[in-house]
Amino acid sequence: VIPGEKFQFQTEVSRLMNIVINSLYKTPEIFLRELISNGSDALDKIRFQSLTDSSAMESNPNLNVTIAVNKKARVITITDTGIGMTKEDLQKNLGTIAKSGTSEFIETMSGDKADMDLIGKFGVGFYSVFLVADKVRVTSKNNNDDQYIWESTAVDDFTIAKDPSGNTLGRGTQIAIHLKEDQDQYLQDARIKELVGKYSEFINFPIYLRSEKTKTVEQEVTSDKEDDSEEAVVEEAKEKPETVTVSYLDDELMNSNKPIWVRDPKTITHEEYDQFYTVLTREANAKPMAYSHFKAEGDTEFKAIMYIPEKAPKNLFQRTETGEKNVKLYVKRVFITDESTDFLPKWLAFLRVLVDAEDAPLNVSRETVQNNKSIKSISKHLVKKVFDLLKTMSQDEEKYAGFIKEFGTSLKLGSLEDKSNSKKISRLLRYHTSESDKYTSLESYVSRMKKGQKDIFYATGSSVDEIKQSPFVESLLARNFEVLLMDDPIDEIVISELRGFEGKAFKNVAKASLDLGEEEEGAETQKELETRFAPLLDWIHATLINDIEKVQVSKRLTTSPAALVANDFGWTANMERIMEGQAK
Ligand code: ADP
Ligand code: MG
Repeated sequence: VIPGEKFQFQTEVSRLMNIVINSLYKTPEIFLRELISNGSDALDKIRFQSLTDSSAMESNPNLNVTIAVNKKARVITITDTGIGMTKEDLQKNLGTIAKSGTSEFIETMSGDKADMDLIGKFGVGFYSVFLVADKVRVTSKNNNDDQYIWESTAVDDFTIAKDPSGNTLGRGTQIAIHLKEDQDQYLQDARIKELVGKYSEFINFPIYLRSEKTKTVEQEVTSDKEDDSEEAVVEEAKEKPETVTVSYLDDELMNSNKPIWVRDPKTITHEEYDQFYTVLTREANAKPMAYSHFKAEGDTEFKAIMYIPEKAPKNLFQRTETGEKNVKLYVKRVFITDESTDFLPKWLAFLRVLVDAEDAPLNVSRETVQNNKSIKSISKHLVKKVFDLLKTMSQDEEKYAGFIKEFGTSLKLGSLEDKSNSKKISRLLRYHTSESDKYTSLESYVSRMKKGQKDIFYATGSSVDEIKQSPFVESLLARNFEVLLMDDPIDEIVISELRGFEGKAFKNVAKASLDLGEEEEGAETQKELETRFAPLLDWIHATLINDIEKVQVSKRLTTSPAALVANDFGWTANMERIMEGQAK
């Protein structure tokens, strides 16, 4: 141990380390994925910096990650030639947690039921190294500081000291992991190769396995005597050549490090796309529902892979403008940023996209992305591609139902947010219907409309079962009309904005004027009924004078004796409930 300045881990770090160790002890192998991914991030950072400051790279022009194993010392070292950390960085990055949401995460994970999905999403990061290590030494050299050593045994504190051997790394970070007694498996080259193949195939920098190899070479025996006579030369040739064993370092490349998005889609398997999804999202167990890999040419040239996740993130609609990180931008294979929100409209925040642009200026800074013309054109193209993908997906009814279940609300938000596309979106919407248990499109509802039916009937409520039992729906069903059953709070707003579909108006069955397009049979009887029930109507009206506007004899009900309806311009009960919910 090199004596150094002592620091305490921030309380959150200690708690996080405990959670990581207690919940992931069954898969300690992920430490390698996390450390390689940190190395790759650090390499991205120095490459990005070098776009505007070419001298940044001088401290070490190579960009790679090298893993070496020392069986005798039981140490694995992972070295990257990335941006490195200053003394201050070491103290801050490996001693505190800056990540937002950490406290909430720790809170959830400390409960009885640790959510393994959550830990995958949160990304356990550097501290996962203590799954396999009882001591870790991080040596790091950043261009702005001397080389420093951070060291810890994970118990409460760590030390930082200036490296007495000087700035040997040039630039980058070396993590020396002293393995726990029972973690010897990671000393096997084959195991390291297996894990790199499993988790880090899509890292865009070469990852080497460095090992010491020996070889025997024949060494020419040079004679001591300065004798050029013919006999002497013949004598020398007869002598058996001496062999010596030399050792040398061998770097074996473990990944293809050709970005998957530049490959021909025809050569990429579903499994590879799935695997790349976990890399892109940093969500170890996540899967995509669908993807699209395409190349755009014309006013902007770029390649992209776009994924629809299998599940909607829990906080999809609460995410802040800056926190979405759903588009990773590369320019000519160089990672630029994942912090721009200019690529996709809000309603598409659920997508996960990688864009690699050819003609965006190389030295765009994270800030100027906003004002870039090619970025705008990329954005337009991406939205178009989403529609293509959804259209294709919608041809498989079952698969599409899965999409609607997860992202139906996003589509509806889209129809409100993106007026220019709301027609297109309306074709992609699906609703529950009284007709069957399956979702229906508006198009197929219209194709089933009864002769003489002018409007599209819909009813709203908090669940399909509840809506089905409403007296309004009941009476329409009794007359063989199909009713759309809308249970999403946003439905009513969307429908009132859409107004109609293929020339048919939407009619809420809970509203007063409902034209069923049927013969007004027995207009006489209606009058008679009104006269007969006038005393009752007067009485009800007088009794409920503060709550209702008027009382009518209705022919819309079948088995229910009475129903409350909204007038054509008022809010329905459902809408009132939503608005009340909003106000809280
Ligand atoms: P995350 O990668 O999600 O930020 P980590 O716990 O993996 O969280 O890493 C914490 C921070 O430590 C990183 O954000 C980075 O600033 C720093 N760091 C970790 N490893 C390296 C590395 N190899 N090179 C440079 N910085 C690193
Ligand atoms: Mg990390």
